[in-house]
Amino acid sequence: MKYAHRLVWTAAIAAATTAIAACGSETPEPGASSATSGPKLAVVATTPEVADFVRNVGGSDVVVTQIIKPNVDPHDYEPTPADLQAIATAKLVVKNGVGLEEWLDRTIESAGFTGTVVDSSQGVTLREGGHHEEEGEHAEEEAGEHAGEEEHDPHIWHDPRNAKIMVTNIQKGLAAADPAKADAFAKNLTAYTADLDKLDSDNAAAWAKIPKTDRKLVTNHDAFGYYIARYELEFVGSVIPSLDTSAELSAKQLTDLVATIKATGTKAIFAESSLPPKTAEAIAQQAGVKVVAGEDALFGDSLGAPDSPEGTYLGAERHNTQVIVDALAG
Ligand SMILES: [Zn+2]
Repeated sequence: MKYAHRLVWTAAIAAATTAIAACGSETPEPGASSATSGPKLAVVATTPEVADFVRNVGGSDVVVTQIIKPNVDPHDYEPTPADLQAIATAKLVVKNGVGLEEWLDRTIESAGFTGTVVDSSQGVTLREGGHHEEEGEHAEEEAGEHAGEEEHDPHIWHDPRNAKIMVTNIQKGLAAADPAKADAFAKNLTAYTADLDKLDSDNAAAWAKIPKTDRKLVTNHDAFGYYIARYELEFVGSVIPSLDTSAELSAKQLTDLVATIKATGTKAIFAESSLPPKTAEAIAQQAGVKVVAGEDALFGDSLGAPDSPEGTYLGAERHNTQVIVDALAG
């Protein structure tokens, strides 16, 4: 069985290699003024966020294949044959890390990829799973529900300071894979890091207008731990009670969440772009608070459509802050 698979994949890889070679004669994209000479580096990036980072650091010297498309839930992703082909022909694979891409190791093995995998999370201070550890009351109960005892929160990018570490890791990976372009990558990194600093200071300024006692967040799933820690918010609860998106609240937990929302004076529940808003809407109705959904839904796991302002990390994060601050200020 395994051997048969290998044959199929070998054929697929050969086809993909031919396709890539055929693309090699393409002229550079318009506006690729910083392009240095030589072939572009083929990079596979797993999530929309990481792919956006690679595009910013790599500029016109890389060709990025993004595996997970916008508004797709990354927690239960199943790779396609096309993903496998892309990985087989890539020079570099860049991942978010922290266990978000459970499918990646086996896919890399199936693809026969022997190149470098850049773990963009290297050096980021990770949060333990769940948000209740400081209170202590639910810690044991929650730990029992998670598969691994040492589960960490993978949503690291929601703190722009972590994003800076991620793009620095990416820059190192790109420079090692294509040393001739190292200067260009370093230059791009400097420019993008300034954008991340600006995002962080703008976020902080927006939050400074909201009293700390009003900074209460209920989201669709538990994706904003790093954001909450960075801007001193309080995590009241989530519709899906875990760091991934597979769990469901029991009837009792739903009732408890409604009661907590009422008791804490939480003003709104925020739906997420990559998850159905139905339960969030029901809870909001029961608790008598507004639900922020539709176009205003938060980008918890994903980015917006590629051509929209929210199609970039910077745009999506600015959207999140604006939507949350507006809802909590009103
Ligand atoms: Zn998530």
